[in-house]
Formats: sequence, structure tokens, C-alpha cells
Amino acid sequence: MKRTIYDADHDSFRASVREFLERSVIPNVEEHAANKALPREFWLEAGKQGFLGLSIPEEYGGAGADDYRFNAVLFEELNKVNAALGSCLGIHADITAPYLVELGTEEQKQKWLPGVAAGEVLLAIGMTEPSGGSDLAGLKSTAVRDGDQWVINGSKTFITNGYSADLVITAVRTSPEKGARGITLFAIPADADGFSRGRKLDKVGQDESDTAELFFENIRLGDDHIVGELDGGFIHMMQKLPQERLGCAISNVAHAKQILEETLQYTKDRKAFGQGIGSFQHNKFLLAELFTQIEVAESYIDQCVVAHDKGELSPIDAAKAKWWSSQVQNDVLDHCVQLHGGYGFMNEYRVARAWRDARVSKIWAGSNEIMKELIGRDLGL
Ligand SMILES: Cc1cc2nc3c(=O)[nH]c(=O)nc-3n(C[C@H](O)[C@H](O)[C@H](O)COP(=O)(O)OP(=O)(O)OC[C@H]3O[C@@H](n4cnc5c(N)ncnc54)[C@H](O)[C@@H]3O)c2cc1C
Repeated sequence: MKRTIYDADHDSFRASVREFLERSVIPNVEEHAANKALPREFWLEAGKQGFLGLSIPEEYGGAGADDYRFNAVLFEELNKVNAALGSCLGIHADITAPYLVELGTEEQKQKWLPGVAAGEVLLAIGMTEPSGGSDLAGLKSTAVRDGDQWVINGSKTFITNGYSADLVITAVRTSPEKGARGITLFAIPADADGFSRGRKLDKVGQDESDTAELFFENIRLGDDHIVGELDGGFIHMMQKLPQERLGCAISNVAHAKQILEETLQYTKDRKAFGQGIGSFQHNKFLLAELFTQIEVAESYIDQCVVAHDKGELSPIDAAKAKWWSSQVQNDVLDHCVQLHGGYGFMNEYRVARAWRDARVSKIWAGSNEIMKELIGRDLGL
């Protein structure tokens, strides 16, 4: 189906993203996977091209693009190369930077945003703790007032960009007696005394991204490191999660669509019993179903992008987009592996890696069960 949400400006932006990926990224993806991280040169080059500051106002070094469709184009193109690119860049520019843009003080914006846009200050977001991620309101890391400072203790886990980040927007408990209303966001610099990182975690997929545990031991920070309202962190996160989930949905579908197209070609080239394997009726019907699933999901998500641009995307619609797209992505990629036969299980094949990379999309950014819990509650259940 012809997509109608993009115009000529988005098309030329897409061309510039592709040019960057072909020149500076695609030749290096094996190195990224071996190092389990994107090198700083990647971030600096992406910054130079203006891809890290789409949502950052021009006065702080960004593009000030008040149009989420550019972010959507970026996600689509990154995910066509691999899913880890989308998740690392997404965490930095699309998920974490908005906390500083929308909640930061003038001083915080001037201090950090130019570096964020340039790729010099790499961001991560620390919500999940070893004791649990779904029950965000139950987090245990604390910040305790001591004179005019806060003393932060605790840990976070599964943090994307965690191993390389320079600044981590971190949720900690400031008022233990107030439950969800006692959580505050702090911008913790990685060079603060008492900040340390564990090893790069050994993941099933998305080898190119760095994911780490973070430890906080008596980190001392002033009020100038609080992002947003004291004790308002939970509400701030709830307000930002729909955009995070929309970004996931865009990525999930773009990722699966690319591999499905590559799989279609494979089924035309690969012969069995004297014919292309895609032309067996079973596979032909299967491919027809998979393309339909992808296009239907894409249409829903396109409408979510339009709604988000108008400030009308509801948390429930974002939850629907997130869980449905990750289910479609995983179903489609599982069939793509099957259509590749034994080659589909070999890491040297893109389809095998994509299948591994996709699995996490049903778990992170709020698991699919949590998405259904939100939708169910909205149904009055
Ligand atoms: C590769 C990777 C990168 C990540 N990046 C980040 C990051 O950058 N920052 C960050 O903060 N976090 C990050 N996460 C963490 C991610 O968001 C959490 O893993 C996720 O929220 C689930 O939390 P959990 O792992 O503690 O599982 P749990 O909360 O322990 O849940 C375990 C299972 O129980 C289910 N469950 C829990 N509650 C309910 C319920 N009420 N009803 C039904 N089922 C329920 C869950 O759906 C899940 O299936 C990342 C995770 C991974 C794997």
C-alpha cells in the first residue's frame, strides 16, 4: 500500500541517512558486533550529519525539527541495517534527550544539549533495576538529602549505551514513603565519584549494542542534577513512554519488513524440486500473509506517527502499536528463518541475526504483558 505520511523533505532526509549508513556504518557492522558496541566515531559522525539532534532546539545545537516524521524516517533506515543501530541511537536521541529538552533547566540545556547533538555526550536512561523493570514504581535506588547535596546509592541493569554513556538520566527514590510519587530523575555524569559500570552484558541478540549494569555508591550531586520535578520522576517517565513505544513500533515493523523483502528474493532464487521455493503454494500463501501483516501494521503505526505529531497519541494507542508490532515482527522473522532452511540458522545470514535481534522487542520498553495490562485497564477491566 502506498504510504502517504511522508513528503519530499522526508524523502531527501531519508536519502541523506542512507548515504551516511552506506558510507560510514554498513562497512563496519561486523566490527561493531565483535566489539559489542558502536564506536565513538559513529556517534561523532552521526552528530555531524545532524541525526542526533532532531528534537533539540537550534539554540542548543540541534535541528529543532518539530516533525516526528523525521525521527520515524531515521528509525526506519537504521533498522534496515540492523536493529541495534535503531535501539542505541533511539535511546540517545529519541528517548533520553527529550527529558533534557522538555524538563531540563536552562543551565542543564546549555551544559549538555550541544554535546548530545554532536555525539560528544552520549546518553542512556536508567530505569530498570536488578530487582525488576515492569514494576517501575517499586525501584529501590535512593537519593538521600545531606546538607545541600543528594547522596545516591543503588544499581541499574540492562542499560542500553550503559557501557559508553557519559550521562545517565536515572530514576531514584527520593521520598520512600510516597511510592510512585517519591521518584526523582537525576542526570548522573559517568565521571561522578562513586559511579561504576559492570561488564558489557552478553546478550542473545543485538550484538552491536552495548548493554550494561550500572552501580552508584555514595554519588554526591546537587539540585542542579535533578531533571524535572523533585518526586515527579514517575509522572515524567509515564509522559515520555508513549514516544519510546512509538519509536519501538516503527523500528519493529521496518526491521521485519526489510528482512521479509530479502527473504522474498531468496525464495525466488533458491530452488527445490526444480522450482523456486517461494512458488510452492504453501510458501506463496505464507508470503502473501506476511506481507499483508507487515503492511497492515505499518498503516496503523503511520497513523500513530501522525497522531503523535499533533500531540494526540494516547498511551493506550502507543501500547497497542508496541505490542502488536513486536508480535508481528517476531512472527514474520520466524517464518523468514524457516523459508531460509538451514541457512536461516547460520549467524552469517542476516535473517538469523535479525531473528535473534527481534526477540527483545516483546520484553523491553514495557513488556507486551504490561502493554496488554494497560490496554485491559483502559477497557475497564
Ligand atoms: C537488551 C535490553 C536493553 C534494555 N535497555 C534498557 C534501558 O536502556 N534502560 C532501562 O531502564 N531498561 C532497559 N531494559 C530493561 C527492560 O525495559 C526490562 O527488561 C523490562 O521492562 C522487563 O523488566 P524485567 O526484565 O525486570 O522483567 P520483570 O519485570 O521481572 O518481568 C518478568 C516477566 O513477568 C511479566 N510480568 C511482570 N508484571 C506483570 C503483570 N502485572 N502482568 C503480567 N505479567 C507481568 C513480564 O511481562 C515478564 O514477562 C533493557 C532490557 C534489555 C533486555
